[in-house]
Amino acid sequence: MKHFTSKQREIAGKLQQDFTGGNWSNWRWHIKHSITDLDSFETVSGITFSPKEREALQETIETFPLSITPYYLSLIDVADWQNDPVMKQAFPDSRELLRQDYEMADPLSEDTDSPIPAITHRYPDRVLFHISNSCSMYCRHCTRKRKVGDRDSIPTREILSQGIEYLREHREIRDVLLSGGDPLMLSDSYLEWILSQIREIDHIEIIRIGTRMPVVLPYRITDELVDMLKRYHPLYVNTHFNHPREVTGSSRAALTRLADGGIPLGNQTVLLRDVNDCPRIQKALVQKMLQNRVRPYYLYQCDLSEGLTHFRTPVSKGIEIMESLRGHTSGLAVPTYVVDAPGGGGKIPVAPNYLVSYSPSKVVLRNFEGVITTYREPSEYPHTYCNRDCDECHLQLKLDEARENNATGITQLLSDEDDVYTLVPENTTRICRRQDEIAE
Ligand SMILES: *Cc1c(COP(=O)(O)O)cnc(C)c1O
Repeated sequence: MKHFTSKQREIAGKLQQDFTGGNWSNWRWHIKHSITDLDSFETVSGITFSPKEREALQETIETFPLSITPYYLSLIDVADWQNDPVMKQAFPDSRELLRQDYEMADPLSEDTDSPIPAITHRYPDRVLFHISNSCSMYCRHCTRKRKVGDRDSIPTREILSQGIEYLREHREIRDVLLSGGDPLMLSDSYLEWILSQIREIDHIEIIRIGTRMPVVLPYRITDELVDMLKRYHPLYVNTHFNHPREVTGSSRAALTRLADGGIPLGNQTVLLRDVNDCPRIQKALVQKMLQNRVRPYYLYQCDLSEGLTHFRTPVSKGIEIMESLRGHTSGLAVPTYVVDAPGGGGKIPVAPNYLVSYSPSKVVLRNFEGVITTYREPSEYPHTYCNRDCDECHLQLKLDEARENNATGITQLLSDEDDVYTLVPENTTRICRRQDEIAE
């Protein structure tokens, strides 16, 4: 069985709970005993603040609430809490209240891209389905900070049924991301009800669950949960480790259970100043992920949400990190670095430049070591005109649904069949001038 640390015993004692391994490894116990106020935090952690600090922290909590599971709190190194990456992610900082005028409550326009309350539909073939508004630990860097702590708004069956109806009606949706909040805050049976409803829809090919439980409350990943989840394959789980320190014995056990359940695992990291804005930390993290059968998926640039300014780094820091990964470690360990475009533009990948120059006969490339090399283009490459009629094409995409919708965006510009040759933003001065002329 598990080993429990003296620190875990001590924390349980301070919560005035008898320590039993059964309690400590019971996820509901952690939710019930989550630390949500300063007094309890001081008592349990042994960290104390001056009256002035307390006042500022209290004000912060009133706007952006505090909640830490005893488990996640136990990872804080009390001797050096000022620099502790777990502390920084979980404990308020009065700088959260320093508003900048470019900050936005909903920088990703998730609310405007919501046809109905529980769904964000931004991309052609996949949606976010917000099935829970609560979390066991409130990340200070949450992009949905505007919603954190709406404890009363656990979505009802009616709201979720509406979402499921939306999925059923929109045949273009083939991928559903269960998000929140943390979907694993729901009970196994409520979650199973949702999964079974989604699985009844023929056009839904895959289901993904985004959860931070393996990091902040790994005991949530029980055998019962995994036995249930694996009945709804193909099902993917993406989690959110930000620092190698979060990879503990308990979190490893949770990841092992999920992977043994045949669930492909991914990780999404947020680049955070003074937490993980360091190439060596990122490299250690992605390597630890692979050791636990987790594929690093995205590295996110910190969003422009309210109260996150002190966490932001320049994009150049992310590029420097990506430079330190590609070629230097397993390709499998390298995530895609993305900026989630303010205004709902979606995730935009950014990367160091490897293409140095090109002519019709050659491209010039550089590798991770700085070697500059050339790739000779084929001397002859006849263009295959594509009219999107795959039945007539010598390339064999022999699928019933081969003829898909028309191309959009840049793929539309590249297409042979489409007459569109330019994408012009609305309301440029030039376009407005034209319209004025037409009106006159
Ligand atoms: C991130 C995101 C997705 C999923 O994007 P992938 O690149 O497919 O992982 C879908 N919808 C919204 C609104 C998102 O923000």
